[in-house]
Amino acid sequence: MKNIISPSLKDYNTFHIDCRCKELLTVENDQDIDEVFQRKVFHQPYLMIGEGSNILFTKDFEGTIIRLATKGIEIVNEDDESVYVRAAGGENWSDFVRFTIEHELYGAENLIGIPGLVGSCPVQNIGAYGSEVKDIIYQVEGHYLPEGEPFVFYNDECEFAYRDSIFKNKLKDRCWITHVVFKLGKEKHFQLSYKQLAENLVSFGSELTLEKVADTVLKIRNSKLPDITKVGCAGSFFKNPVVSETKFAELSAKFDDLVHYPAPNGIKLAAGQLIEKCGWKEVRKGDVSVYPTQALVIVNWGNAKGFEVVEYYQEIIQSVQEKYGIRIEPEVRIV
Ligand SMILES: Cc1cc2nc3c(=O)[nH]c(=O)nc-3n(C[C@H](O)[C@H](O)[C@H](O)COP(=O)(O)OP(=O)(O)OC[C@H]3O[C@@H](n4cnc5c(N)ncnc54)[C@H](O)[C@@H]3O)c2cc1C
Repeated sequence: MKNIISPSLKDYNTFHIDCRCKELLTVENDQDIDEVFQRKVFHQPYLMIGEGSNILFTKDFEGTIIRLATKGIEIVNEDDESVYVRAAGGENWSDFVRFTIEHELYGAENLIGIPGLVGSCPVQNIGAYGSEVKDIIYQVEGHYLPEGEPFVFYNDECEFAYRDSIFKNKLKDRCWITHVVFKLGKEKHFQLSYKQLAENLVSFGSELTLEKVADTVLKIRNSKLPDITKVGCAGSFFKNPVVSETKFAELSAKFDDLVHYPAPNGIKLAAGQLIEKCGWKEVRKGDVSVYPTQALVIVNWGNAKGFEVVEYYQEIIQSVQEKYGIRIEPEVRIV
């Protein structure tokens, strides 16, 4: 196991916030996992991270950060319709998606390009372009904290919801996810409910392939989102708010151009549009602003401090509240 004392975390979070933790442990194999429990690491302040792509550090973290770097992707079972693939938590998410494409397995392709690790994907039920990872997760495996008893959660026990799960809520910081087993389709089937994706792919008809879908998803993503090797960010900073039918009717009477989608418990609005309409595309404070092509993304153009991002996002929340009477919530974990 690799350990670094008091490292800068600038390269361990995609916001590129320069702060420190007491110790950074990189866990590379099963032996390292055992050692972490023997050393009682989880009996002191701790934080598990993957690629730090959904975290905003606001100050130094006074504890140990544990980072998974375990590897391994294998097909563990199959039946007439599905193939079950078990991946180690330290695998890069998009590498896993590429594995499914190479093996002609359906279901993960729309999620290519989402930064992060396999071990983090269940935490906020990652989603994009009409797919959510809950649609392909079969089971989540790992250890309860702090002691390390093993657990297995089947899909229906994970309480998956929009950018949410039991691991982000009731069991936040109580479960260390070490493996995820995915159930992928053998039969050709694409999820093309996202308009822009469908428009780009419709001409392929029955010639459409997994590779073509993945390439198109990556092109769309790259045209909208910042390159995290150059600009700091954590993707969508806020969740899209869901309002009741009554609230939506009230809002539509005042604002006629609200982007909206049906949601299981009401109407989902586009937080990016609300932020843009509050004028945030024109507001840069120091090295912090929203991204020019997507107001839902807050970026660090260079040397922003965590607290400056906090001040900025809190002002956004306040302005959206004042104009629309809706309280938007961060999707990103604030540490
Ligand atoms: C440019 C950009 C685009 C993005 N686009 C999308 C998108 O389209 N859709 C989407 O859903 N998200 C998106 N995100 C957010 C992010 O990529 C996902 O949330 C991703 O799953 C985070 O993975 P990570 O490994 O970086 O986790 P981290 O950010 O390091 O951690 C996220 C959370 O998971 C916990 N955690 C990490 N590892 C473990 C573990 N092994 N066991 C238990 N808990 C753990 C952490 O404590 C933390 O609470 C984007 C981010 C960026 C920067």
